[in-house]
Amino acid sequence: MEKIKMTTPLVEMDGDEMTRVLWDMIKTRLILPFVELKTEYYDLGLLHRNETEDRVTSDAANAAKKYGVGVKCATITPNAQRMEEYPQLTKMWKSPNGTIRSILDGTVFRTPIVLPFIKPAVRNWKKPITIARHAYGDVYKAVDLETEEPGTATLTFRGVSGREQSVTVQSVDGPAVFQGQHNKESSIRSFARSCFQYAIDTRQDLWFSTKDTIAKVYDGVFKRIFEEEYRSTYRAQFEALGLTYFYTLIDDAVARVIRSEGGYIWACKNYDGDVMSDMVSTAFGSLAMMTSVLVSPDGTMEFEAAHGTVTRHYYRYLKGEQTSTNPMATIFAWSGALRRRGALDQLPDLVRFGEALESASLETLSAGIMTKDLAGLADDGFPVRAVTSGEFLDAIAIRLREKLA
Ligand code: NAP
Ligand code: MG
Repeated sequence: MEKIKMTTPLVEMDGDEMTRVLWDMIKTRLILPFVELKTEYYDLGLLHRNETEDRVTSDAANAAKKYGVGVKCATITPNAQRMEEYPQLTKMWKSPNGTIRSILDGTVFRTPIVLPFIKPAVRNWKKPITIARHAYGDVYKAVDLETEEPGTATLTFRGVSGREQSVTVQSVDGPAVFQGQHNKESSIRSFARSCFQYAIDTRQDLWFSTKDTIAKVYDGVFKRIFEEEYRSTYRAQFEALGLTYFYTLIDDAVARVIRSEGGYIWACKNYDGDVMSDMVSTAFGSLAMMTSVLVSPDGTMEFEAAHGTVTRHYYRYLKGEQTSTNPMATIFAWSGALRRRGALDQLPDLVRFGEALESASLETLSAGIMTKDLAGLADDGFPVRAVTSGEFLDAIAIRLREKLA
């Protein structure tokens, strides 16, 4: 079989622990036998980030920006416990995903891989629901003030010109608590652009919700910027593709989402997206089946699994055990990245390879061959054989080879 050729490199970001082990297995068994893989490789494993004083993370993000497509393995974000586990760490390095997101100025879209034999908790959901979370500002960058006596809080903005704008927050008659939040017009606009762009790329409707009846000015700005971007830049393409942009209040959106059959993108403000993405992913079944893509306003995409490095499995692997860790979301990160690379470079064979990899993986699951986490979720009566990660990947490879023959 002749291997599929690539023209432009894909930015490959390796990672940590069990997902690093899966990363290598996926490449060796499912990609390298079929594709003349061209990647620019960055090792984002914790120790290499430490050795490069985390420069490798920003280098990888800048390379993704240059080439337009990246694929990332899950990585450890160090905390106090990790500092003890890895005494050679010179600093508690920041979350690589946070660093990459800020360099790409991107929005994260999370989509579940939906299976016919695992019923979502919401019976009428048939297609995936993709959540886009605005990952800047609001309560996540707020300042708080707790006070003891009666008095008045004011919010003052002092411009570089010296001009001041001020409002009274509240006069209180006793102890109270206050919070100051902000967001930036530029960040909201990037969020809107990434959402419209991704809706067009994936041919899905876009829903956006805030609470602008209550937060008339604050959420009103979000609503206005989305409308402006839609009218000025995206409406023609939406109409040509038969797509809808739909704005509604967050509480109305929640009710409609529950009654819907899925198949759209739901753009949420930072806090709403934090809460709703956990609700939607849990209702669809499993964190191990959640894919994630970071999309920048210029269309750069970085694909990954939504889950972490699966530490508990890694420690069993180090003891020599064959683990049954689910590689689906990481496989779909690769297939998504290869399809995108193929679409940008006009390489239909590469696009078809990405599609074949996805359907071979789904058919393996439909044949009842799956990792332990899914075996426990399958519908009653569905015949299931729980296998190790290696056996699962081999079963996919057989089907993939047949498809490509
Ligand atoms: P996690 O790695 O997602 O794992 C949490 C638990 O979920 C696992 O122990 C496992 O449950 C189950 N699970 C997750 N993915 C699975 C898979 N593919 N197959 C089977 N089971 C799976 O989250 P964590 O333990 O909170 O975090 C571990 C490390 O990952 C941390 O250092 C964190 O910083 C990092 N992290 C990275 C990213 C990223 O790079 N995007 C995201 C989140 C976390 P059982 O053990 O019960 O089988
Ligand atoms: Mg959360």
